[in-house]
Amino acid sequence: MDDLDLRPRRTFAVISHPDAGKSTLTEALALHAAVISEAGAVHGKGGRKGTVSDWMEMEKARGISITSAALQFAYGDHVVNLVDTPGHADFSEDTYRVLSAVDSAVMLVDAAKGLEPQTLKLFQVCAHRGIPVITVINKWDRPGLDPLELLDSIEKQIGLRPTPLTWPVGIAGDFRGVLNRRTGGFIRYTRTAGGSTRVPEEHLDAEAAAAAEPDRWAEAQEGHELLSADGADHDQDKFLAGQTTPVLFASALSNFGVAQLLEVLLELAPAPGPTTAVDGGQRQPEDDFSAFVFKVQSGMDTSHRDRLAYARVCSGTFERGMVVTHATTGRPFTTKYAQAVFGRERTSVERARPGDIVGLVNASALRVGDTIHAGAPVRYPPIATFAPEYFATVSVTDTGRWKQFRKGIEQLDQEGVIQVLRSELRGDQAPVLAAVGPMQFEVVTARMEAEYRAPVRLESLDYSIARRVEPEQRDEVAALRGVEVMQRTDGVLLALFSDRWRLEAIERLNPHLRLEALVAG
Ligand code: GDP
Repeated sequence: MDDLDLRPRRTFAVISHPDAGKSTLTEALALHAAVISEAGAVHGKGGRKGTVSDWMEMEKARGISITSAALQFAYGDHVVNLVDTPGHADFSEDTYRVLSAVDSAVMLVDAAKGLEPQTLKLFQVCAHRGIPVITVINKWDRPGLDPLELLDSIEKQIGLRPTPLTWPVGIAGDFRGVLNRRTGGFIRYTRTAGGSTRVPEEHLDAEAAAAAEPDRWAEAQEGHELLSADGADHDQDKFLAGQTTPVLFASALSNFGVAQLLEVLLELAPAPGPTTAVDGGQRQPEDDFSAFVFKVQSGMDTSHRDRLAYARVCSGTFERGMVVTHATTGRPFTTKYAQAVFGRERTSVERARPGDIVGLVNASALRVGDTIHAGAPVRYPPIATFAPEYFATVSVTDTGRWKQFRKGIEQLDQEGVIQVLRSELRGDQAPVLAAVGPMQFEVVTARMEAEYRAPVRLESLDYSIARRVEPEQRDEVAALRGVEVMQRTDGVLLALFSDRWRLEAIERLNPHLRLEALVAG
């Protein structure tokens, strides 16, 4: 093993709403650190480098990456893995699943907009999984909200106590730098041209800060003292327990705060820990190799049906060529030809350590949630399904292809591409597909045609919210006007509602009904 293999890992994802600056931050992080490898993580926007993997025609047409992948870089004496959370039109169940592969999350918030809906949904998944969250308030170089109000509204919406590590000197739009609340020093913001690799940060002590920015520094001091008096100081145990969130103020576009974020990730974010198996036992990072699949990507190469499975290493060392056991089937799975896709050109990775992400090619046996392992058997729990918000019926356009249609839908369901709902009322001809984002429907349509030669017709349904229903209340819920109850393949009964208002009205009128929200619902 070389030096990189032995360095401690930090594996995280950025959770944000479109336009908060995730791509900008990702690039800025990569600029600061030495990129080791990239698995199609960065969006090919606006003249930036394009995506690595071509994924079906529709991806090429859009020029964006549908896959969630990882960017790996070295910083300090660590190796950092940034796992991409696809957003924009790519928002899908995979976006949530990525969060099962990380040890911490960076919540990126636009200073002018505060918390936005997609961020909130992703946060709920983090909270559910117990993933510690670091908050970065971005775009502080532009006019924005008052910092105290911003923190207040974040606390109200997510229930975590913000504990700022830095405090802005100068209001949003008049950004002079930040007061480092842990050292009492001033990190001064020096404007640099966009894309410059120079770090726009200058470190001054309090005395020099007071001389440089007398009024603004005094104001920042006041804010800092107010926070301390209020008990809003960082507490590592509370952060790891998911009670507080450390906060940094940044301007990703000008690289300010990016080095600070890396330092915080190294210093405060958790290292890969033990992973709990289905039987309740725990696999320690230093135990035999094990990993679980959190994303499967199909049809990347149209010339042969290629299937790429992304797995997070939980324990031990992955070595290319090793034969591992596929826990679901008990069969051996060879990684000899399954070259790992790290790197721009699917170059192989020889070794991966706990916290790293490996991409396994030709992994047709692997499904989302599957475990692979060496040594003692282990099986990790399946990844949860998430609250769908888009619903459509699907039917085959050529009834002569009915068999292929059924097989295709069944497989896409198993792969976790889409959730499939059924009811006696609707019959088997046109099951309902449920998705977290509309792109999942496009994937179904494209794959049904390309892989199963069974073109389908989708008709969207006027529902946007689902709640879990207890079997004994099924009939009562189903009898309500404008509500439909369907069964998901995993047996869970879901009641579908047109919107939140309808749901709330029903809950008000029928307080005895147990309509349970699903994760991120
Ligand atoms: P994403 O959708 O979250 O990936 O957001 P992008 O990184 O594409 O950024 C969205 C827009 O915000 C782009 O025009 C960026 O140049 C801009 N942006 C990102 N970070 C900052 C920042 O710190 N300050 C300013 N002024 N603009 C920013």
